[in-house]
Amino acid sequence: MGTLGLQEKQQGQAGRMSSEMICCPNCDLLCSSQLVVTGEALRCPRCSYTLQKPKKNTFARVKALSLAGLLFYIPANFLPIISFEIFGIEKVSSIFDSVATLVQQGYLHVALIVLFTSLVFPLLTLSFLLFVSLGMYSKRKPQNVPQMFRWYHHLEEWGMTEIFLIAALITIIKMYHLAGVGYQIGFFCYIGLVISCVGCSLALDKQYYWAEIEKTFASHGDFKIEEHSHHRTEKHLTAKEAGLVLCHVCHKLTRMEKTKGEAQEKCPRCQAALHSRYPNSIARTWALIITATIFALPANILPIMEVKQFGITQRSTIMDGIIYFFQDGSYGIGLIIFTASIIVPLFKIVGFLIILNSIHFSRLTRLKPKTKMYRFISFIGRWSMLDVFVIALLCASVDFGFFSDVSAAPAAVYFTAVVIATMFAAVSLDPRLLWDKVR
Ligand SMILES: [Zn+2]
Ligand SMILES: [Zn+2]
Repeated sequence: MGTLGLQEKQQGQAGRMSSEMICCPNCDLLCSSQLVVTGEALRCPRCSYTLQKPKKNTFARVKALSLAGLLFYIPANFLPIISFEIFGIEKVSSIFDSVATLVQQGYLHVALIVLFTSLVFPLLTLSFLLFVSLGMYSKRKPQNVPQMFRWYHHLEEWGMTEIFLIAALITIIKMYHLAGVGYQIGFFCYIGLVISCVGCSLALDKQYYWAEIEKTFASHGDFKIEEHSHHRTEKHLTAKEAGLVLCHVCHKLTRMEKTKGEAQEKCPRCQAALHSRYPNSIARTWALIITATIFALPANILPIMEVKQFGITQRSTIMDGIIYFFQDGSYGIGLIIFTASIIVPLFKIVGFLIILNSIHFSRLTRLKPKTKMYRFISFIGRWSMLDVFVIALLCASVDFGFFSDVSAAPAAVYFTAVVIATMFAAVSLDPRLLWDKVR
């Protein structure tokens, strides 16, 4: 482990490595890394995107946290997390049970989304991080390290353990007056898993990792390190104007060879396909936003949950669920679900319409707030899954036959579709299109 200390010491310089010329992924502006320094973070002078923010001991922290997360993974997901007791009948349920119950109730699509976002993707992202962290400095230098880190980049926002934990807490509060609630061992393991997952993404310095990957694998003969650092720094010169292209994944600047078509170009560092702008960005985003808007209607009108008590069936919509919390006096929870299920999807759809309209009519006003709004929409989008997770947990944990039984209802499918469509819209929209007409 002697080299580890050295590597950690080099980390401070790694943030500054190859940084004479960097490019903003949100507005395509080329700038010198010495241009704006706010504290330790380097922000884009045009759209205030955080270009660089070196993090201390990233390698050691990510390695430890991803390993801890993997150790928590099995007990957290397969051991019971909560138990509810009604009329002397106790029902314990695990995270995996919530997926299995949705399948039994015939909601395969929702079950698959819950399965991937709460079980599969967290496992993959933790495994990729550990593999990359170990592989970067191992003697064998496994060839798929850059590929694994690229996959991590794509899957990162789709692992939603922390949202599932908040959903579990809401479920407990919802059931508190109706049943005896017991915390099981899995619950505490799940908290460990969430801390590990969130800790990993907070501790991860992607630029440092990519720089190290490039150094390690370049010496192995895989990558050529491009020399384009001494470009002129003109005011508002974009990468596109300078004949450079920024990798969407690892943010490496590469010279675009005019002889090759865009689609054939691969990033020399992470092997992702290079595009000056995302292909068909506008058309894809429009298609996804229209899809989300259409699904938003049945998602809000149809019932999302069905409660059977003593043979009487009560069906409730998203809004009914929110009103329930307000009538119950749980204003905080009501407000959280109202924000996650109603405000966020609405804000996302309206926000995308404003951005698309701005691109379409080449409006050059308020570009900075619009870019900030795009970043906010991308960040907040996944939290709308909260209500779907609450329903999944209620279905699994409230199954007392004749006395009380909760199951999902059709709006769950439409609502999940809205969330997924708007998340994909955020991925397919290229914010640089907003800035392209600026002269
Ligand atoms: Zn920018
Ligand atoms: Zn790349």
